[in-house]
Amino acid sequence: MKTCIFAQFGLALALLLGLSGGAEAADKIKAIASFSILGDMVRQVGGDRVEVAALVGPDGDAHVYEPTPADAKTLAAANILFVNGLGFEGWMDRLENSSGFKGKMVVASTGVKSRQMVEDEKKITDPHAWQSLANGKLYVANIRDGLIAVDPDGKAVYEANAAKYLGEIAGEEARVNEALGKLPPERRKIITSHDAFGYFGAAYGLEVIAPEGVSTESEASAKDVAKIIRQIKAEKIPAVFMENITDHRLLDQIASETNAKIGGTLYTDALSPPDGPAGTYLDMFRNNIETLTVALSS
Ligand SMILES: [Zn+2]
Repeated sequence: MKTCIFAQFGLALALLLGLSGGAEAADKIKAIASFSILGDMVRQVGGDRVEVAALVGPDGDAHVYEPTPADAKTLAAANILFVNGLGFEGWMDRLENSSGFKGKMVVASTGVKSRQMVEDEKKITDPHAWQSLANGKLYVANIRDGLIAVDPDGKAVYEANAAKYLGEIAGEEARVNEALGKLPPERRKIITSHDAFGYFGAAYGLEVIAPEGVSTESEASAKDVAKIIRQIKAEKIPAVFMENITDHRLLDQIASETNAKIGGTLYTDALSPPDGPAGTYLDMFRNNIETLTVALSS
């Protein structure tokens, strides 16, 4: 019996030490990002000084996310919170208020020239600004400045990490422009299920049509779908693309009623799990460009 109690005590002690993670982990800045793509960007800039958690994880849909009590606890313990803004995280205000979060909030899209549109006679803002790498650079600058504000001792590290990352984003931007620049004009129209590629299309010269609009909250009406099917036929739109965060059935139906082919899966509002093809912001771009160019070149 004695041995048993000691064994339990030992286990409890080991767990306690393991959970506290030693002095190093305790010293780290605790950052929360609202969704996985932003989480990766914060990780790139924060490096070893920052511990990052994303509320909406890989393949998750932040438009319709419902925060959990665990999210409120995580947020309460954080030093800094990064959100996309532009109306993307409609659930954040309530979560923030209920959590008692006292840290700094950074809106990563600050400075972006937002796309405004009318949907169902309502004026709305398109939140998907990260799908342009030029905007991604603004996000990185905002993340860097936010981290410096809560951790001035790390200024040099954050500046160096951000400069390196900005260089990588610029390199990817040149590759994207080169790859998509080769597509003939008549191949520059695509269908996705929800309208996540407005900034992407504007930046890289693609016309993107989406039955569901800029949020996944409302389903496409039969009328919207019929209209898109007519449009695909009339304009000979070559391909429709699945998204990692949405249901495939609508696009299957659209593809089967037209000559458009299924072009593969694009990563829109979330990364893949780390071992998948789009585990980081830049891998998401590489994967999407590969998928688009393969489908639209043939
Ligand atoms: Zn979206």
